[in-house]
Amino acid sequence: MSRPTADTVVIGAGVVGCSIAYELARSGHRVVVVDRAAGPGLGSTSASSAVIRYNYSTWTGVVAAWESKHRWESWEEHLGGTDDGSLARFRRTGGLCLDSPNQRASTVLGLFDQVGVPYEVWTAADLALRLPALDRGKHYPPKPVDDDAFWVEPSEELGGYWTPDSGYVDDPSFATHNLMVAARRHGAEFRFGATVTQVRRAGDRVEGITLADGSAVDAPVVVNASGPHSGRINELAGALDDFRITTRPLRQEVHEIPGLPAGNAPLPMIADLDLGTYLRATPTGNILVGGTEPECDPLHWLEDPDDVGLNPTQEVYQAQTYRVARRIPQATVPNTPRGVVGVYDVSSDWVPVYDRTSVRGFYVAIGTSGNQFKNAPVVGEFMRAIIEACENGHDHDADPVTVPLAQTGHVADLGHYSRLRELTATSGSVMG
Ligand SMILES: Cc1cc2nc3c(=O)[nH]c(=O)nc-3n(C[C@H](O)[C@H](O)[C@H](O)COP(=O)(O)OP(=O)(O)OC[C@H]3O[C@@H](n4cnc5c(N)ncnc54)[C@H](O)[C@@H]3O)c2cc1C
Repeated sequence: MSRPTADTVVIGAGVVGCSIAYELARSGHRVVVVDRAAGPGLGSTSASSAVIRYNYSTWTGVVAAWESKHRWESWEEHLGGTDDGSLARFRRTGGLCLDSPNQRASTVLGLFDQVGVPYEVWTAADLALRLPALDRGKHYPPKPVDDDAFWVEPSEELGGYWTPDSGYVDDPSFATHNLMVAARRHGAEFRFGATVTQVRRAGDRVEGITLADGSAVDAPVVVNASGPHSGRINELAGALDDFRITTRPLRQEVHEIPGLPAGNAPLPMIADLDLGTYLRATPTGNILVGGTEPECDPLHWLEDPDDVGLNPTQEVYQAQTYRVARRIPQATVPNTPRGVVGVYDVSSDWVPVYDRTSVRGFYVAIGTSGNQFKNAPVVGEFMRAIIEACENGHDHDADPVTVPLAQTGHVADLGHYSRLRELTATSGSVMG
């Protein structure tokens, strides 16, 4: 019996892998997606806060998020159908980014002007009027919550900027399932419980993958979309020789606390780099809170992404939720943590690597650095453009592929995501 073949094997059925599979399949490629988990979106995507915001430190970062927002808004149209009658939903709550030197507002707002992202600059007085539940105290720099300085009453007030189009997607795993169903409509095949143990090569060209059960899929193109396992899959392919940007797994926790008492307006997304947190409402009215890697907090880098330890800790719970309670005095913090543990696949500069590699036919969509769920709708298109150009002999390293973006009219220069780039100047955190 001959071995199964495909035009492309995608390793990983997270939101990124499923988006790539969808774009390739609808362009006529025969795609096989393999994932070691039991279904789509069960890796780091399942822990995602799925916040949709536009404040990145680079033009391409802002453009990718702004283009994607339009696709989340017309999700059914983007996918060409529903998922058994329903779909994940983008909830537009608005978003506030409080002042902080950790991501310069002047840079971000200049980019918003160029890209066309609507915003309003709020003074402390605007903040009092528009979001009265928020304490306006300026606490910068962020401090550990067991440091007395954390409790010192601030003497200055801060403002921020408001983006009315921010929000969140209500179910990141279901959004990924939606992409899988859309890809299947175009013939993509998904195999679950399928762990890649070998990326096979003939000389400097890939020729397929081998799975833990000994079975194999032959394909001239293999895409690494394995999230926090990206470094391992790159090693299997022997593709790391010329990368200037590396990736590393970073443990994260996201917690949930009760919403504000009745009578308060629903909370928008709030990026609070002044204290070191971000938060948003949940569909049931609770508050979801995560961290923004303030310098005072230890980073939990992992040698092995599988050694993550799935129990949320009291330490991180307190750090995140006490900061929320400092900002929103009416917030309540129950004794017992209720949260999820996830892993970021962090690149050297917190910008992803969407690129070819030195191994012909081996491509990467990695280093998503805790901030690429929102961009998944365009990442599929970016990767299809790179793969099709390179497989047709184009030298993407010397002459980066550009992609015209249908919804916003901008053009994305994919050299931004090159593995060969010098470090990009960013916030050096999940904000990108
Ligand atoms: C806690 C947390 C909060 C976040 N919040 C936000 C946010 O608010 N907004 C935002 O835009 N982004 C956010 N992100 C980032 C975003 O969720 C990720 O960038 C995105 O989900 C990554 O998707 P992925 O498909 O690349 O990876 P994954 O979802 O991790 O998928 C990779 C898949 O590869 C599979 N795999 C790994 N190794 C193998 C192998 N050897 N063989 C076969 N399969 C394999 C895994 O099983 C997994 O399903 C957050 C991430 C985390 C962890």
